[in-house]
Amino acid sequence: MRAALLDAFDGDVRIVEVPTPRPGPGEVLVDVAACGVGLTLERARTGALGGSTPRVVGHEIGGVIADLGSGVTGWAVGDRVTTSFYLLCGRCTWCAGGRETLCANWGGFVGVHVDGGLAEQVVLPAHGLVAVPGDVSLAAAAIAADAIATPYHALTARAPVRAGSTVAVIGAGGGVGVHTVGMARALGARVVGIEAEPGKAERLLELGCDLVTGPEDATDLPWPIDVCVDTVASRDTLAAAVGMLGRAGTVVVVGFQAGSAFELDPRPLVLDEVVITGSRYATRAEIAAALDLVAHGKVPPVIGARFPLAEVAQAYRAMQDNAVFGRIVVEVDPA
Ligand SMILES: [Zn+2]
Repeated sequence: MRAALLDAFDGDVRIVEVPTPRPGPGEVLVDVAACGVGLTLERARTGALGGSTPRVVGHEIGGVIADLGSGVTGWAVGDRVTTSFYLLCGRCTWCAGGRETLCANWGGFVGVHVDGGLAEQVVLPAHGLVAVPGDVSLAAAAIAADAIATPYHALTARAPVRAGSTVAVIGAGGGVGVHTVGMARALGARVVGIEAEPGKAERLLELGCDLVTGPEDATDLPWPIDVCVDTVASRDTLAAAVGMLGRAGTVVVVGFQAGSAFELDPRPLVLDEVVITGSRYATRAEIAAALDLVAHGKVPPVIGARFPLAEVAQAYRAMQDNAVFGRIVVEVDPA
């Protein structure tokens, strides 16, 4: 089969012919229809997420089960599925307690620590799968598994948004950003999009932002911010996020980068009871909930560009250039 292989960290992915993998006990083989390409893949490429090479990359997967390994129950050949990005034990207190992304025996990431889905086929652990509703395309399902499920977790579990809340999204035009805007709208919030690329403003307004501004103007907003989701998480954006909060507001950091430590004045923590927290990916139940919101038209999947598997290098370049509004999807067309 054809697969996008990362030979070594900091190298470029390239399409190669590799043996078709076989599902072991508890695993399934999936025919991949689509796989999302976001900035996480760039961090995987540089080695920032750990793992090892050579590696077939890609984790935002939509596909159809083609074969079952021994001992797999509850799934059948032909089922439409997506998967958790995380390799979970399924047995620890965190997994059992509904906070599985904090798994005590976490095994790493799909596409980083085991081969991923930018390929014609992928082997996945059956217990990481999530069923895709019939009215959701497999390309939409692929991005729902991360770019839509991540804001669902952030805005329902980490900083619950109520109708009438005001939510600011830093990096609103990125793959997670646009879906955080959509999720906040679906939850009934007023939304401020903060985006450094002025060319993305119009699309963000169409998506339902009440206001779009550049980061330099984010200190003077017309509303106090109840929840600020920082998808950029640089030193500057983190400081700005805290600064724009209203009383009892919450900053939710989604993702992080090295060297972004920032100084914090503790006064607003006490005097305004502001909260600064983070949000780590999403559970399988939250992926299912995100798929449900897509199925019911509540959160539109924003696919900004589509590439065939043969053009995975171009897909990476578009992602690295931050040139695409929303998520990039690679569509696999079996030869
Ligand atoms: Zn666990």
